[in-house]
Amino acid sequence: SGGLVRFNAGGDNGRVGRIPVGIGGRRLRVVVTGGAGFVGSHLVDKLIGRGNDVIVIDNFFTGRKENLVHLFGNPRFELIRHDVVEPILLEVDQIYHLACPASPTNVMGTLNMLGLAKRIGARFLLTSTSEVYGDPLEHPQKETYWGNVNPIGERSCYDEGKRTAETLTMDYHRGAGVEVRIARIFNTYGPRMCLDDGRVVSNFVAQAIRKQPLTVYGDGKQTRSFQFVSDLVNGLASLMDGEHVGPFNLGNPGEFTMLELAQVVKETIDSSATIEYKPNTADDPHMRKPDISKAKELLNWEPKIPLREGLPLMVSDFRNRILNEDEGKGM
Ligand code: NAD
Ligand code: UDP
Ligand code: UDP
Repeated sequence: SGGLVRFNAGGDNGRVGRIPVGIGGRRLRVVVTGGAGFVGSHLVDKLIGRGNDVIVIDNFFTGRKENLVHLFGNPRFELIRHDVVEPILLEVDQIYHLACPASPTNVMGTLNMLGLAKRIGARFLLTSTSEVYGDPLEHPQKETYWGNVNPIGERSCYDEGKRTAETLTMDYHRGAGVEVRIARIFNTYGPRMCLDDGRVVSNFVAQAIRKQPLTVYGDGKQTRSFQFVSDLVNGLASLMDGEHVGPFNLGNPGEFTMLELAQVVKETIDSSATIEYKPNTADDPHMRKPDISKAKELLNWEPKIPLREGLPLMVSDFRNRILNEDEGKGM
């Protein structure tokens, strides 16, 4: 890929930053796999907003056209319905690889996107996950920690799939000289999040809006650290455009028990909401909190939006979608 130009990064508090340009100084051409999903669609907004040409590859497995509909008709935006398990031929400068169902196709999709990057000399970014640390024995988690994953557990397909994807990414880097970047993303929330994929933030917010009890699994003392999606998207772009391979933890170090999260949701949406305890799933990590010193130092990145500021920013989106669903059911 080509050199760097100055630009005004509107999404990053108006700070002046740098974006790469494509070969011959033309506009940078970027692929986002999984761009119709929650994180992907916000990333696409940022890239289009700063003047890149963006091609989304998505098979709408969990993603939705509604997340991108505001870009239809924009000549710098293209949407391809395609399963990344099948090979594809394109000419681009950068590949953000987000497409990932929680299944082995994860590995096939990553292999194809690495093969594409190798053939065309594009830079490849893998969105890996904090799940590579498993049920961690080190706290908070640094990138140097190798993790504690049960290879035969119920959630292993996702964890091990991402671990394999990281391995493939580093093999293509070392063996074929592909320029790669690896992000380990910690729990992220925000508008456009799937309503019903069972994540704790989307569950609690939807339950509070629907006047249902908040379902706390286990004793509710397990912890997670929740990052607002705009912070993540800024981190992904800084990683892609910077000079460091990673892996980098991208997450908000603010750590909450599930009971504390339920309390924040109550304060934000409905103080009369009640809690219902349910059995926890097997192999549920007891605690999770990123050590982000490496990203702070080398990417000059850190999250800006604490949970109490971020949660209200997703509530109106959730209210609208829940209302539309109810109307769809004739309620
Ligand atoms: P999402 O489900 O909203 O987005 C994934 C997108 O990929 C969807 O639009 C889906 O339709 C698409 N997709 C799935 N399989 C595909 C295939 N075979 N071919 C083409 N498209 C396909 O999920 P998200 O939360 O936006 O996650 C994006 C990435 O970030 C994923 O790789 C995920 O593992 C990673 N991640 C997310 C979080 C989080 O908290 N949201 C945490 C850690 C890692
Ligand atoms: N691939 C792709 N688009 C390309 C180049 C490769 O989808 O432009 C796929 C290819 O079909 C293969 C994978 O990426 O399944 C890995 O490609 P690579 O060239 O690294 O491996 P090889 O084909 O030599 O085994
Ligand atoms: N959880 C919960 N209630 C829910 C959904 C999840 O208490 O309705 C818990 C879950 O047991 C886990 C934590 O919230 O301990 C985070 O779960 P999520 O699936 O959101 O993320 P992950 O486990 O992948 O970090």
